[in-house]
Amino acid sequence: MSKNLTTRSEDYSKWYNELVVKADLAENSGVRGCMVIKPYGYAIWEKMQAELDRMFKETGHQNAYFPLFVPKSMFEAEEKNAEGFAKECAIVTHYRLKNDPDKPGKLMVDPNAKLEEELIVRPTSEAIIWSTYKGWVQSYRDLPLLINQWANVVRWEMRTRLFLRTAEFLWQEGHTAHATKAEAIEESEKMMNVYADFVENFMAIPVVKGIKTETERFAGADETYCIEALMQDGKALQAGTSHFLGQNFAKAFDVKFANAEGKQEHVWGTSWGVSTRLMGALVMTHSDDQGLVLPPNLAPIQVVIVPIYKTDEQLAEITAAVNDLTAKLKKLKISVKYDDRTTQKPGFKFAEWELKGVPVRIAVGPKDLENGTFEVARRDTLTKEVVSAEGIVTYVNDLLEQIQADLFNKALDYRNTHITEVNSFEEFKEVLEGKAGFVSAHWDGTAATEEKIKDLTKATIRCIPLNSVEEVGTCVFTGNPSTKRVLFAKAY
Ligand code: AMP
Repeated sequence: MSKNLTTRSEDYSKWYNELVVKADLAENSGVRGCMVIKPYGYAIWEKMQAELDRMFKETGHQNAYFPLFVPKSMFEAEEKNAEGFAKECAIVTHYRLKNDPDKPGKLMVDPNAKLEEELIVRPTSEAIIWSTYKGWVQSYRDLPLLINQWANVVRWEMRTRLFLRTAEFLWQEGHTAHATKAEAIEESEKMMNVYADFVENFMAIPVVKGIKTETERFAGADETYCIEALMQDGKALQAGTSHFLGQNFAKAFDVKFANAEGKQEHVWGTSWGVSTRLMGALVMTHSDDQGLVLPPNLAPIQVVIVPIYKTDEQLAEITAAVNDLTAKLKKLKISVKYDDRTTQKPGFKFAEWELKGVPVRIAVGPKDLENGTFEVARRDTLTKEVVSAEGIVTYVNDLLEQIQADLFNKALDYRNTHITEVNSFEEFKEVLEGKAGFVSAHWDGTAATEEKIKDLTKATIRCIPLNSVEEVGTCVFTGNPSTKRVLFAKAY
């Protein structure tokens, strides 16, 4: 099979788009900015969902579902949130079409079916959820509320990219309500840590945990915690966010509770989300010029077995050996595919599974049967090894773990060698024009400086890292005093 992928060094962006399509993850649709997620891509997303869902439940959260539409007046209630999302809202104004009298076979909006109040297609669900929480919370005994929703949202993005930025995307959004400020802050931090744990240990993508500057903060939040990852082209990607909402939504929607002393207080809130953007992060972190490289924890097929044969007899013998191996691997919860298609040659199959990122490929022919061996190939390193049939099950099981660990370490190495400390604006620009990555620099803490740097270099402050140490310094741009370094980068 001919892959004909553009290479990363030729054109990284083109490589990404081609790969997403050729590896059967997703494709553009007939709807502006909206994608079709194909079965292979969706299977990966389902694996992400399953693990995140497990982690949310383990930390005490329950799933629920709220409406897709938000009445405009409800949407407006928390002013900062409404203002922040106003620029990218889809709005429903009518509820009926009718035949167009001037154009046979065509439909038109029925002017008599105008909604009394417009409905916003949710770009995020704080408004609808906090308007509901008003009815759910009366006393401190009703708290905390720990709810998650799996849903789609719409943000009218102008420049879209498959998975990374789409007008409609799938995500989960957690929305919690607490009796105290400390508890809400603890929850926001906890969920940022859950995301970091998931992205690092499941997706094998190292992240920096930090907080956003006021400019980059979620509209309506008092603090935004985030995890930031670095892609192979040196650009950063926001992989997840967790917001401490203060009492902003409680005040906007009048959500109060009677505390233990019977005194009325406003509730404290959080919200947190990760989206199908994580699929883009997965592709951009590990994949290579041959195609996808999937960490075993997320690969829909972890092991593919390809028979090499000339005669039907040989195939029958190979199949018997493969069935035995498959049964043993499946007992260890390893997902295996036996690619015994008679319509394709082994070389075609090898290329196809390489493109699709299957972590381990086993090839077996008459010679192997004779010698009691299998040929085992790793997708990440593209290396091959001959393994004795006796120890093959343990070998494969260990190899999958090894690949998972190696992918993380490789990405970590890359990330760590792409964080550069700079002390002047010259150096700052040099790094961005060169190898890019994160630039660790002093900043004077003002939005004006942040904006000027962005205008001049396209780099934004990705986060103020949580592990950033206090250090006397001067802002790389203005020379004004600063106490901490922040991470700048060009970002997706
Ligand atoms: P937010 O509600 O803005 O904090 O975003 C929650 C999560 O969704 C973050 O991880 C974002 O990176 C991600 N996200 C935001 N906008 C989009 C988009 N247009 N397409 C895909 N993911 C997005």
